[in-house]
Amino acid sequence: MNGIFTHPMIRVSDITTFNKCPRMCYFINHGHDRIEVSPGFLEGLILKELALTYENAFDSDDRQIFLNNELERISKEIRVICRNELSKVDDAALEKSITDILPLIGEISSNLSLNSDFYSYEFIREEHILYSDKFGISGRLDRLLRKNDRMAPSIIRTGNMPDNGVWNSERLALTAYSILVEEKYNSIVEKGFVEYARWGKVRQCVIKRHERRQVLRIRDMIKRIQDGFMPERPKDAPCEYCNFVGMCDVKSTLASRFF
Ligand code: SF4
Repeated sequence: MNGIFTHPMIRVSDITTFNKCPRMCYFINHGHDRIEVSPGFLEGLILKELALTYENAFDSDDRQIFLNNELERISKEIRVICRNELSKVDDAALEKSITDILPLIGEISSNLSLNSDFYSYEFIREEHILYSDKFGISGRLDRLLRKNDRMAPSIIRTGNMPDNGVWNSERLALTAYSILVEEKYNSIVEKGFVEYARWGKVRQCVIKRHERRQVLRIRDMIKRIQDGFMPERPKDAPCEYCNFVGMCDVKSTLASRFF
């Protein structure tokens, strides 16, 4: 809670979840956990740790050897780093994920050379927990970069990469982080980056007025969800992969007036 907003802070992850399915956002905001223990989830955790070493790999003499060594280190440390998330994961599953990531390292190593502009930024090495009382939004940013007094947020993604540009949910997340960075550092953010860990590629995203409006609009809708409004089930909702499917048959009459 804070002095200006009577609602809990809305997290950037709430905004991207809302974009996926507003009902998912409802369940998460009403005390239900999103439980993810699929092999893809585990691989994602490890890949994200690996991606945090790409800028050092970029500067190393042999990127492939560097990343192989980093993957080996991560395989030993990941249980300490992600203690809670891995509490129910056995050693065999962990080992399989490491084995699955190993063949990706060749392509990642060669793609890193495409990102010389990205690695020419200064990486601000601290934990970026951002919040704004003014906008009622908070979030933990993966990386914050700086060049010529201009800041640029960057997010690491371990899933699929679109053919061109970045996914809409990533654009929204970067816009929300930009609003938070601008408030904290009293500056203007013109662009952000998405790091696609599986490929070692980085895509730039210009922060536009349209998405700034959309972030604030979604924030207002999430406040209503926090107040108890159950949104309609969207036609294209990803129900097949959702662990709330068992509790998601509630019809709301009020919601349609709001969404
Ligand atoms: S089951 Fe479908 S509609 Fe319900 S929360 Fe999950 S994705 Fe959304």
